[in-house]
Amino acid sequence: MGSIIHAIAADGNVRIAVISAPEIAEDARRIHGLSTTATAALGRTLLGASLLGNNMKSESDSLTVRLNGGGPIGSVVAVSDSHGNVRGYVDVPSADLPTRPDGKLDVGGLIGRDGTLTVSRDLGLKEPYIGSVALVSGEVAEDFTAYLAESEQTASACGLGVLVGTDHSVLAAGGFLVQLLPGAPAELIEKLEDNIFLMDQLTTILHEDGPMEVLAQVLKGLEPQVLSTDEVSYLCPCSRERLAASLLTIGAEALLELASEGTPTEVTCQFCGKTYSFLPEELKAMAETSSAS
Ligand SMILES: [Zn+2]
Repeated sequence: MGSIIHAIAADGNVRIAVISAPEIAEDARRIHGLSTTATAALGRTLLGASLLGNNMKSESDSLTVRLNGGGPIGSVVAVSDSHGNVRGYVDVPSADLPTRPDGKLDVGGLIGRDGTLTVSRDLGLKEPYIGSVALVSGEVAEDFTAYLAESEQTASACGLGVLVGTDHSVLAAGGFLVQLLPGAPAELIEKLEDNIFLMDQLTTILHEDGPMEVLAQVLKGLEPQVLSTDEVSYLCPCSRERLAASLLTIGAEALLELASEGTPTEVTCQFCGKTYSFLPEELKAMAETSSAS
């Protein structure tokens, strides 16, 4: 189980959420068989989606983050529920790149920089609310920061990191999202920028000292007050009914064609890899429903 810690600082002018959830990145790696760099790419995106999703208002709200940068990994997709529980996938899980000259994983190269970060919020209305920004670096955290600046017009900063060990397992994964209230004093922005510039490497702090130390370093000198902590995990709400509903979208003709093969049709959930089997007679019944509607 990972966690998100919420705190305020500087007399309520600053809000922060700090996530530490190596389990989320490790589950994603295991489910999809991700390469090391792909683990960092999807892991960061899942963590960012969790930070954004965690503060949605209604129980049934959800949010989808999609990065399309034209890089070898293809699309990176993460979905969060209103608690910050997430699930996701990438187009090419095995895609990988050599580490950069500074020794860091080349997430920006794997995702690419020629494209967009899109956030689609499903708030139970007829149409989702969609916001999109051009990718800054494909390194994910900077792209989230750009999205927040443009779509929510609040001064914010986001840090996201995944540390992968030599055995390819996830050693640490987490990040932070800090936002200033409108009208916060300019010195406060400078102070936060200095803190973030001077802090130790995010994954090192998470690995060695934990999320409270991230909070302490980002909000150094600003008297942070912890408000609450939420538990978050990699969670897929898929079911036979949901997969059946998505199978319906292929249309009556295609369903009958599958049924005519005489063997069960297996449908795999793209988020968690769980497989659901549908018998030919079920497919025929679905084809009837589908053509009736
Ligand atoms: Zn699933």
